[in-house]
Amino acid sequence: MKPITMPLSVSNVYLVPCEGGYLQVDTGYPQDYARYRRNLARAGIELRAVRYLLLTHHHDDHAGFLNDITRDTSLTILAHEQAQPLLLTGANDKSRGGGYVNRFVRFIADIKMRLDPHWTLTFPPFALREQDRLIAGDDEQWLSQIGIEGKILYTPGHSIDHIAVVLRSGEVFCGDAAASFPLWAGTKYCTIFMTDMDAAYQSWQKLLDAGGRVVYPAHGRPFAADQLRRHMGKISTAELVKFF
Ligand SMILES: [Zn+2]
Repeated sequence: MKPITMPLSVSNVYLVPCEGGYLQVDTGYPQDYARYRRNLARAGIELRAVRYLLLTHHHDDHAGFLNDITRDTSLTILAHEQAQPLLLTGANDKSRGGGYVNRFVRFIADIKMRLDPHWTLTFPPFALREQDRLIAGDDEQWLSQIGIEGKILYTPGHSIDHIAVVLRSGEVFCGDAAASFPLWAGTKYCTIFMTDMDAAYQSWQKLLDAGGRVVYPAHGRPFAADQLRRHMGKISTAELVKFF
């Protein structure tokens, strides 16, 4: 199974075929919405065919256009129960510490934050609705209801509300549980910001144990899941570079 990939300004949205349409993984920044709609049209997919939206976590570059997409179509959102209060705040969770994975990343991020007016770590608050579905932990059943063979796994480490999908055919939609940046950035398959490295590596192990073979990250290009095995444990929570 090859998902439909829609690159947005900094993140990738993925569409996985399901009963009656598609399950989408994540949204982008609010200002990505027009580009997302153009991408959909170019792929010949109507917005209403996007029946489900799995939100890997509440961060600004993943939850940014939830208000827009739910205004324009009636889809069901799947999110971890801890995402619910965080989405209402409209800001990335800063209550659990963490930091950039190294000093070089911090240096680049500082420059970008100064130059990019959109990089505020905030987003339009969003209230999950009656029709949405909260996931409490690992869920090995729910996806089968919509014709997808796979599991939803609780994968904290980047954020406390993080979930990911592993399909029986080996594709992993990991959100920010892992990422593929150029080697020179030294991120070692982590996203640039992490909160708890022990939890993150346990999450990687979970993705591998569930049969993950190819990882489709929110940031960067797809990569072999074996890279997670190879880079496990390379960064410790103590060496994260704090920035708030
Ligand atoms: Zn994130």
